[in-house]
Amino acid sequence: MYYAAEGNFNEAFKTILKTNPFPNVLGMVCDHKCQTKCTRVNYDEVLRIRDVKWFVSENNNNGYKEELPLNGIKVAVIGAGPSGLSCAYFLRLAGVEVTVYESKSISGGMASEAIPRFRLKEKALQKDIDRIKNLGVHIHYNAKIDHQSYGFIKNEYHYIYIAVGAQKIKKLNIPGDNAEGIIDPIEFLSSLKRNAPLSLGENVAVVGGGNTAVDVARAVLRVLKDRNKVTMVYRRTLNDMPAEKEEIEALLEEGIKVIELSQPVMVLTDNNKVKGMKCVKMQLSGKDSSGRGRVVPVPDSEHILYFDCIIPALGQETNIDFLTDDELKTVTHDKITPAKLFIGGDAYRGASTIVQAVADGKEAALKVIDAINYKKETISNKVPEISYEKLLEKRAIRQFSALPKPNANQNEADAPELPYSEKQIMAEASRCLLCHQLCNICVTVCPNKANYCYITEPLSFTLSKIRMADNKPVIEKDKTFCVKQKYQIINISDFCNECGNCRTFCPTADAPYTHKPKFYLTPESFRNAPEGFYFTKTPEKKALVYKKEDKFFTLSMINGQYVFENDQIKASFSQNNFSLMKVELLSPFEGYLLLDKAAEMLLLFKAAENLY
Ligand code: SF4
Ligand code: SF4
Repeated sequence: MYYAAEGNFNEAFKTILKTNPFPNVLGMVCDHKCQTKCTRVNYDEVLRIRDVKWFVSENNNNGYKEELPLNGIKVAVIGAGPSGLSCAYFLRLAGVEVTVYESKSISGGMASEAIPRFRLKEKALQKDIDRIKNLGVHIHYNAKIDHQSYGFIKNEYHYIYIAVGAQKIKKLNIPGDNAEGIIDPIEFLSSLKRNAPLSLGENVAVVGGGNTAVDVARAVLRVLKDRNKVTMVYRRTLNDMPAEKEEIEALLEEGIKVIELSQPVMVLTDNNKVKGMKCVKMQLSGKDSSGRGRVVPVPDSEHILYFDCIIPALGQETNIDFLTDDELKTVTHDKITPAKLFIGGDAYRGASTIVQAVADGKEAALKVIDAINYKKETISNKVPEISYEKLLEKRAIRQFSALPKPNANQNEADAPELPYSEKQIMAEASRCLLCHQLCNICVTVCPNKANYCYITEPLSFTLSKIRMADNKPVIEKDKTFCVKQKYQIINISDFCNECGNCRTFCPTADAPYTHKPKFYLTPESFRNAPEGFYFTKTPEKKALVYKKEDKFFTLSMINGQYVFENDQIKASFSQNNFSLMKVELLSPFEGYLLLDKAAEMLLLFKAAENLY
């Protein structure tokens, strides 16, 4: 957002590519859950993040154009959909040799087969796929994996990622569901994209309420060009439809009729040809385990709906027939199995979103990258720092989005065109509050001013650790203590009544009032607290005290040195770089004594100095 606001779209695109291998596709069809979490909503309205990224990606074809060197690790990816290619992309950036096995003759999985052209430009998908292939990812097409070829893959590669998608369509499972006129939704969408001949009849029912059902209904409308000839039939209510909100809105705007709370129980046929559905009415009855309204049939509510074509879009299932039963039982997305096998995307979750599939692929790649100890610099990014005043100013000015809403195309073959100018995108991106530098939502939403933001200079120094040898403390080098985030939060417990407001608004789903360091302002409140910090300041001495479970830790500034003390040691640190200068043993201990607490207290000592 920073670079887009500056009009530096090249740099913005490079930044997107560090974490997103499908910027062109996701710029158009991501369900943008991030926008539901955008903190700008607390000031006016959320940022149109996806639209900014769409513009940036559409106007940029830079990126990786050369093959990268190899590091000797080989990974096989089964499936060239968004999840498989995402995994391949991140692995290839880390120097891994990646070979993708795809059963079809094209890449892109559901993105190429099932997302209609009026939502996703084919060129956009091709750009993303080409970029991944240009890195040196090899794709074998028409390579359906069976037990034999899987055996070869197991021997040939260090790791295997399964991303075969969920291709098996769920059937209606009611009498008559094999009749002529029942159409597979993915086959329908795919035929449409290939311009293959279609026979839909005059009056089409789409059964279901997910993204595919909505895509199918909108595509049927574009084929039949009559909103009265397509009807969605859904067993729950519109509110409980799992499809993306934006897509449901588009569906309704286009005038497609939705029959809610209606459950097909039989396909009616004439000479084995569909002529309608017998349905029962449903009614709400409490909530189900997912929080959606539970529906139960209304007694004696059977009714007939007449259609000559039914497209059941009820979801898809996974069908992985090349794994053994044992492998199927143990393979998971969460960790790599001992057989160096893992799974993700729709193959793991059932039909989900493209961004989820891409995220799974990335996570899978990061697991391998971790396992092979590859440095992850390629995936991090650094944006120039903005001054505190500027960050506050951004939050002080109410500025609603001025981006127009894109119009849906009425023709199936028409790809969506970017409706934004460079100026509009720069204005939208400049609304970004740059929360990675300063969030502070918990500070602003606290009615009692109990959360306090302090500024610290980034810190990085090597910690020491202490062990006992011959009853004497021996100092050894420990890990690096590093604080990158400049703006930190403490909680002033005397002011906090634990209302939980900061938990409600926290964009990262944290609970600042319980997890941030708790400070007490009076000796009495500190004495009564089970855990927390207390700072004292006299002309001679400043000291920060921490207590937990009746154990006390103190960090004082005495004669230009930090002195850390608990019931085991007294240690002096240099004021400049916090290097350990002297240790005095107060009571013996076993193993290592770590000084992380001393380092954490140093950070808070500096904060408290400015607070009091
Ligand atoms: S950084 Fe903050 S304001 Fe910007 S898009 Fe993310 S959540 Fe929204
Ligand atoms: S829980 Fe405490 S810190 Fe959080 S908003 Fe309420 S009073 Fe403020």
